[in-house]
Amino acid sequence: MKCRNCDNPLSISFADLGFSPPSNAYLTENDLNQLEHYFPLRVDVCESCFLVQTQDFVLPETIFNEDYAYLSSTSKGFLDHCEDYSNKIIERLTLDSNSFVVEIASNDGYLLKNFLKREIPCLGIEPTKSTAEIARSKGIRVEERFFGKETAIDVSKESKADLIIANNVYAHVPDIKSFTKGLFLLLKDDGTITIEFTHLVNMLREKQFDSLYHEHFSYYSLTTVINIFERHGLRIYDVEKIPTHCGSLRIYGCKKDASIQNNAEYIDKILNEEKEMGLDNLDSYKTFQSEIDEIKNSFLSFLLQAKKENKKVAGYGAAAKGNTLLNYAGVKPDLIPYICDMAESKQGKYMPGSHIPILDIDYLKKDKPDYVFIFPWNIAKEVIDQNNYISEWGGRFVIAVPTLEILE
Ligand SMILES: [Zn+2]
Repeated sequence: MKCRNCDNPLSISFADLGFSPPSNAYLTENDLNQLEHYFPLRVDVCESCFLVQTQDFVLPETIFNEDYAYLSSTSKGFLDHCEDYSNKIIERLTLDSNSFVVEIASNDGYLLKNFLKREIPCLGIEPTKSTAEIARSKGIRVEERFFGKETAIDVSKESKADLIIANNVYAHVPDIKSFTKGLFLLLKDDGTITIEFTHLVNMLREKQFDSLYHEHFSYYSLTTVINIFERHGLRIYDVEKIPTHCGSLRIYGCKKDASIQNNAEYIDKILNEEKEMGLDNLDSYKTFQSEIDEIKNSFLSFLLQAKKENKKVAGYGAAAKGNTLLNYAGVKPDLIPYICDMAESKQGKYMPGSHIPILDIDYLKKDKPDYVFIFPWNIAKEVIDQNNYISEWGGRFVIAVPTLEILE
């Protein structure tokens, strides 16, 4: 296999999590009697451009099917973050009714609704039918397809974009070259691209191995994104750190020859931070596997100990992160009998691989578990604030990443 960015042959392993089903392939009761598809979850690092990437991948059509359960609009904190971004970018680029904004992976319209409200013409590009329909019901125009060179050419016949937004989608793109070329083709000469992606620095520092999924084809640093952009006539003119998805970067890109000035000071600051973390040194990537194994072992020890003591453990948040952890650790309903989730689209379904049932949040109050294990540890504070009633029966919250912790 060759690097998705620079075509260098890949030979250095970053993480090997064995085999598991795609982390968003939630199952119905009927599916439990069917064959389940397992795929290798192995991640390599390119020794030439340092892009971290999955070794084998599932075709997107298999993963982003119509039942794809993830809706962006389920976390209040995330929606606030999006509204804040929208207001800031509208001011910064002085967008108005003559502008054109395109969002790639527009999901259920969680973001574009903010532009619609300000009467800024916009278009969503979203391959998933069910979420595209929700966005349309909010009045947002949606082009129902994957983004790449071809889509960019078709959409730009209507107009090129003043702003292209691609948040939390870059990692999901199997063909980075076609995607990035598409950004170039769809952008006006002085237009801006903003991309938010989980920063590899945080994954290494906080040992966020549960962000490794089949659906994530690449894991980015600023260094690698600059490298990718330069190959397609683009440059990064500004960057900022944002707290979403466990520590992300938001980059601002434009065409290489655009009249926009670079915010060199801040770009250099983050590049230096990446150097200090050793992101330009292969040895830094080779220790990740042993750190992952340590987390898996403490997670299992905790569950086995609780079982021995006859303590009840419930799961909270049927997140993709949870599936990575559960499937790597081989945990089944005998150790975690159910997981509660606020999303109605997931309730009544089962976690892929582990087959743990997903229930309504109210079930916690009925069952009164001793421990509530939070899978999306990145929103632990929000979860604890909303469910602090578990302390009434002495329940405690638990997280496993970066280290196992039983919280107050
Ligand atoms: Zn490479």
